[in-house]
Amino acid sequence: MTSLDDLPIRDDLRGRSPYGAPQKSVPVALNVNENTHPIPEAVAHDIVARVAAAILQLNRYPDREFTDLRHAFAGYLGHGLDESNIWAANGSNEVLQHVLQAFGGPGRTSLGFAPTYSMYGLLSAGTGTEWIAAPRDGEFELTPETAVAAIREHDPDIVLLCAPNNPTGTPLSLETVEAVADAAPVIVVVDEAYHEFADPGTPSALTLLEGRPRLVVSRTMSKAFAFAGARVGYLAADPAVVDALRLVRLPYHLSALTQAAALGALAHSDQMLAMVDEIRGQRERIVAELDRLGFHPYRSGANFVLFGGVDDPHAVFEALLDRGILIRDIGLPGCLRVTAGTETETTAFLEAIAAFAPASA
Ligand code: PMP
Repeated sequence: MTSLDDLPIRDDLRGRSPYGAPQKSVPVALNVNENTHPIPEAVAHDIVARVAAAILQLNRYPDREFTDLRHAFAGYLGHGLDESNIWAANGSNEVLQHVLQAFGGPGRTSLGFAPTYSMYGLLSAGTGTEWIAAPRDGEFELTPETAVAAIREHDPDIVLLCAPNNPTGTPLSLETVEAVADAAPVIVVVDEAYHEFADPGTPSALTLLEGRPRLVVSRTMSKAFAFAGARVGYLAADPAVVDALRLVRLPYHLSALTQAAALGALAHSDQMLAMVDEIRGQRERIVAELDRLGFHPYRSGANFVLFGGVDDPHAVFEALLDRGILIRDIGLPGCLRVTAGTETETTAFLEAIAAFAPASA
């Protein structure tokens, strides 16, 4: 049988592993930070009607500029943005890939603060960009001083800040974003995939865009919007950044079906986001209960919680899986990560994890 090693694959991809969160059919799937609530049925019907109308025109290419969708995203984000500030693609992974294609590449570097979203390294590798993983402070926090020191040391071309950070959940202060953006004339991406789950009143890096043409704020419909299967991510930045991304996207990269579905979801954003408060409540419940059980939950501004104090993460992962509960072993010693699900799913997780509580040892 032919193996990868037999193929003339690029040297810089040899030996790498693809993104590989397990996809298993289980009753309680709390492993990839989805919104586990289905989208409201009334909204689904409107989306179906819009997609049906789009199907009748599939003989034509879609609007390459997805102008209506960019307009709708600008309206959703507010902050004085208009469609010239907006870009979108098939998931924020593709949005980030476009940024790396345009501003990274051979001879250039991207820098992030580990542990962080695993795709940053993979997207960097795929675009020939050298990925630098700088360390965080204690408890996975990131102070302006630590961030700026890493930028001074490594002089990257792109900085990827995850706010809040996946897989740790750690919120990121605007002071740190501001310090990074003002430290060097580099492209700074603030990945706000989970921003809607932050505590109410938490300011977005969107408030820093004015006067900072190298700052990029990316978002996704995959999490709070409960729209992961539709694959829609977007960003806000200076119109010149958006122009740069036009150079690397494939023509018509957002299908007419995707555009219609996303427009439908955005037209009902209040209903789509209706479960966010409930999910935040379940997150707080997970933090409080894990703490009571003697685990070490980290501060989270997202829809998931990383917790330490697990003796044998892999064994606990497997034991929960045997009970139909899928969480995430992200390879951090003593730690596991769980997504805040519905109340019932969260209860199932908390009841199962109690058997492994440090306090009960
Ligand atoms: N950024 C972060 C921090 C994420 O956790 C994820 C999804 N796990 C993404 C981006 C990408 O999500 P999507 O491509 O579905 O928008």
